[in-house]
Amino acid sequence: MIDFELTPEQKEAVETAHKVAEEIFRPISRYYDEHEHESPKELIDKLWEKRREGGSFVGLDTIAALRTEEICWGDAGLYLCAPSPGLGGAAIFATGTPEQMQRFLGNYNEGGPKWGAMAMTETGCGSDTSAITATAVLDGNEWVINGEKIFVTCGKRAMEDSEGLVVVWATVDKSAGRAGMKSFVVPAGTPGARVEKMEKKLGIRASDTVTIVFDNCRIPFENILGSPEVRKIDKTGTAGFKKAMATFDATRPIIAAQALGVGRAALDFVKETLEKEGIKIRYGLPRYKLTALERDVMDMEANYKAAKLLTLRAFSLMSQMLPNSLEASMAKAKAGLAVTKITQKAVEIMGPLGYSRKCLLEKWMRDAKINDIFEGTGQINMLVVARRVLDFSREQLK
Ligand SMILES: Cc1cc2nc3c(=O)[nH]c(=O)nc-3n(C[C@H](O)[C@H](O)[C@H](O)COP(=O)(O)OP(=O)(O)OC[C@H]3O[C@@H](n4cnc5c(N)ncnc54)[C@H](O)[C@@H]3O)c2cc1C
Repeated sequence: MIDFELTPEQKEAVETAHKVAEEIFRPISRYYDEHEHESPKELIDKLWEKRREGGSFVGLDTIAALRTEEICWGDAGLYLCAPSPGLGGAAIFATGTPEQMQRFLGNYNEGGPKWGAMAMTETGCGSDTSAITATAVLDGNEWVINGEKIFVTCGKRAMEDSEGLVVVWATVDKSAGRAGMKSFVVPAGTPGARVEKMEKKLGIRASDTVTIVFDNCRIPFENILGSPEVRKIDKTGTAGFKKAMATFDATRPIIAAQALGVGRAALDFVKETLEKEGIKIRYGLPRYKLTALERDVMDMEANYKAAKLLTLRAFSLMSQMLPNSLEASMAKAKAGLAVTKITQKAVEIMGPLGYSRKCLLEKWMRDAKINDIFEGTGQINMLVVARRVLDFSREQLK
């Protein structure tokens, strides 16, 4: 049985993270939204110190989910600036060997701040990951990677600003389709890997999003995550693609937790503002007796809570090393949609105040949408859920 009552340890983690979000993230939230590409150096140094004191190098348990939500309640863009192995680390955690975890992530609390990134998307390859054109060719005891990856979150910080790493997806055999897709760890400073264009974005503007070009980039054979063999393992999936899916099982709940933070920020703001104006939400009345405003707020809360329960379930299964593909996609699809709806409704309810830059509501609306896009769009995650619930193959339900 999974019990979502918070333990005293979890409650303490939430309280500490909330304090950090309120006192450190919120006060600089607007500044870094308006100064895109400027690095929040002081924040990074502070967070790095905390990370070094904290010890563990990867957390994918319920506490990690709760902390992520709290920090993103503070600011989701700045959260993505926090030095950590990030999505690259999650990919290594999900698909690497214990030796690789130690080799790539073991030093993540040492030296200066470090970041990790994951590069899958290309100009012609987003939702349809089988369209990957980047290649990895074995030459002696090295892989030679060629290709261009776009929209890599934290790519600059991982590859230029620190001794970080990027997990890059490439095909070792184009003719094998999904079975040929493999992931490789490319450490910062590897010749042939260079960061290009930084994106200018709608939301999460403090986070860096870049293009990375791999031009005859050579990495040791041992940097491949999973087996180098190209072999079909069943009629619907393939070995290579299953690794990608295992990565998503770890990363999608993280995005869901980020979404929860932004959604709750908007929800809290609306409720506090209404309370200050003396407007009470009358819980427990039949729906026909409620005002439209009360119904709206209750819908927002119901969406937030449903997304939260799904997210905690996905994390809980993951921390017990149990399969969570269905739950990860459910959490991501629900949370991505919920945060988009909640923040839009919040702006609507607050009217001009919501739209004005005087408060952060309009920013949260902009920060929300990305959660419905990266790590699989809402549509793609719903497709995954439908396939799993109906027991349909990829070919049967596209
Ligand atoms: C700020 C930002 C950060 C990002 N960070 C990263 C990162 O760190 N690493 C990385 O690899 N990528 C990253 N991405 C890329 C992101 O994962 C992709 O944008 C996303 O997967 C969608 O791919 P696409 O943009 O090619 O859209 P497309 O796949 O072209 O989809 C366009 C639209 O069609 C819909 N659609 C597509 N196929 C179907 C279908 N079969 N059924 C129904 N609807 C469908 C989609 O849901 C979407 O609405 C980032 C993107 C952004 C904007």
